Amino acid sequence: MSYLSTIFGSNVFNDSVMRERLPKETYKVFKKTLAEGNAMDASVAEIVAGAMKDWAIEKGATHFTHWFQPMTGITAEKHDSFISPTDDGKVILEFSGKELIKGEPDASSFPNGGLRATFEARGYTAWDCTSPAFVKDGVLCIPTAFCSYNGEALDKKTPLLRSMQAISDQAVRVLRAFGNTTTKKVITTVGPEQEYFLIDKGLYEQRLDLMLAGRTLFGAMPPKGQELDDHYFGSLKERVSAYMKELNAELWKLGISAKTQHNEVAPAQHELAPIYATTNIATDHNQLVMEMMKKVALRHNLVCLLHEKPFAGVNGSGKHNNWSLGTDDGINLLDPGKTPHENAQFLVFLAATIKAVDKYAELLRLSAAVPGNDHRLGANEAPPAIISMFLGSQLTNILTSIENGTPLESGNKEPMTIGVTALPPLPKDSTDRNRTSPFAFTGNKFEFRMTPSSGSIAGPNFVLNTAVADTLSEIADILEGSDDLDTAVQTLIKDIVRKHKRVIFDGNNYSENWVEEAKRRGLSNIKNMVDSVKTFLDEKNIAVLEKFKVLTKAEIHARYEIGLENYSKTINIEALTSLKMARTEILPATIDYATTLADSINAVKSTGLMVDTSSQEELLIKVSSLNAKLTSAINALTEQVHKAHELEAKPVVQAEYYRDMVFPAMNNLREIADQLEVITDASLWPFPTYADLLFRV
Ligand code: ADP
Ligand code: MG
Repeated sequence: MSYLSTIFGSNVFNDSVMRERLPKETYKVFKKTLAEGNAMDASVAEIVAGAMKDWAIEKGATHFTHWFQPMTGITAEKHDSFISPTDDGKVILEFSGKELIKGEPDASSFPNGGLRATFEARGYTAWDCTSPAFVKDGVLCIPTAFCSYNGEALDKKTPLLRSMQAISDQAVRVLRAFGNTTTKKVITTVGPEQEYFLIDKGLYEQRLDLMLAGRTLFGAMPPKGQELDDHYFGSLKERVSAYMKELNAELWKLGISAKTQHNEVAPAQHELAPIYATTNIATDHNQLVMEMMKKVALRHNLVCLLHEKPFAGVNGSGKHNNWSLGTDDGINLLDPGKTPHENAQFLVFLAATIKAVDKYAELLRLSAAVPGNDHRLGANEAPPAIISMFLGSQLTNILTSIENGTPLESGNKEPMTIGVTALPPLPKDSTDRNRTSPFAFTGNKFEFRMTPSSGSIAGPNFVLNTAVADTLSEIADILEGSDDLDTAVQTLIKDIVRKHKRVIFDGNNYSENWVEEAKRRGLSNIKNMVDSVKTFLDEKNIAVLEKFKVLTKAEIHARYEIGLENYSKTINIEALTSLKMARTEILPATIDYATTLADSINAVKSTGLMVDTSSQEELLIKVSSLNAKLTSAINALTEQVHKAHELEAKPVVQAEYYRDMVFPAMNNLREIADQLEVITDASLWPFPTYADLLFRV
């Protein structure tokens, strides 16, 4: 066996392990329960737990944990050992079905948006048996959902699981209308491409901003940036390549198929793409990918930065959420297929997605909202905050032909008739891609490119699933009530294209013109997280999330508050860190420099020689005047932070204050500090510069 096939999945309690270790009957029941999505029988759980424990102990595990994804966006685990004392003073190793199914972490400190404040402080974790358990660092990790005692979701995963059910139910209805009697469920698949930066650990540790805020709060542009495009797909440096090799091996052991890796556009930026999986497994895997990226980096004296914008003026990081819909019997519903019948079905799912993206653009935008993404979306980097879709010229022509009853452009003289005309083959190669589109069709899937590099992909996917579930349900209503399928499909696609084509845009999303054009089309352009979070409470959004039982009103409210608080806290940390660095590192250094210059002037003058000291004088004047500006900027920011702390207001008002008052004051401080950086003696500058960070890996 090859190295890869030996280690791949070796730390995962996967299907082949279960088949080998579970009694035949138990295995069958387990698989059946999974397939049908029913609750796991206690006696089955008991046997599975025993097999899991034995397997995990053989892998060196001593502890187990219910691994979950609270609203912090990262994963949480609390380890319990398998050890159980016996009467004779010895121990036995135990792990029961009960412990597998349900856990009660004392996890009252996770953000809950007030959901637990009044009645029950603790939440419980429930086994997600659809995502396999794994061993990591000597701990058996059991993927779980995290809920309050009233069953309210306190995590990222619960709404995701609910949305998967919702879209499956509605998609199956549509398939039935097409005469499909065999498909039992429809699965959303996701392959998230993860971007990240690697920098030297020693340099990282000299920067308080990177350590506390995950991004640089100061730093002038280096003489060289990414303008030569010499990093993109460039050959890997040895240190980076060693890192990637080890990272891959760690991920393979966890059953994560890290498939491609390459250098990205920015210096020190890289990307990893896995093979796609069912949405909830892909979500778990992406959390593990992010965790492993950070862990393995440290072993190489590197630090992995997952922030959306670690360096101003240099490309930021995103996560490209490749999303598709497939049936349990292996049909990709976003693949056009070959026959007119398959084509018609594909066009219906395509139309459902178009309508969903247009109708729920604000929710999709919200699903990409983290403080870090404010530096990209609609700010100084792409993609813009406007949600639009790219379909490619051929598909767009086909839809236009259906809409207007006009002939297809591609040689075909007839208009596109559902059930009769076969689609021309659509290009799948990546040359025809529009890389500026936030939501691009790529042959048999959509790539949602707005999602933040540091965030969980649970949010974007539960929104996408719910939005499409909604439009599929409307389509199913129509199809179920019609007796001529082809005509009904033709009409409904025509209708959807007419009403929602405004969201289709094949041009350059990064251009100024598009911003204007999008405005004319009535598309929303929500430029910051605070405004985006507010749309959570829009009636339309609450209605759809409630309708498909993905989130209740109370859960939405909780998430709305958590989002706003997260924004305020993030800006607060950044502001305090900026102040600390400016006061105790930058200003002392630049005052030193001013003193050096003054000393030099005095020293030179005291020689009595007629020497020109104008260069020192000019610099001294410049440095001193910038120092004065820096001091007032420090004072101004201090005052704003103080006012923000004093503000006794609703989370939304608080967040707006941080956005409108604190954030600009912080940027102003930075601007002055960056001006000082470029004229100050490099040996006095108190921390590594952009050039050090980006080019010394
Ligand atoms: P492309 O060249 O079209 O970008 P890749 O094969 O490089 O395609 O895939 C990019 C990402 O999309 C990968 O993470 C891949 O796993 C994912 N992907 C491919 N097919 C699907 C699908 N049907 N559903 C979800 N993700 C997919
Ligand atoms: Mg990419």
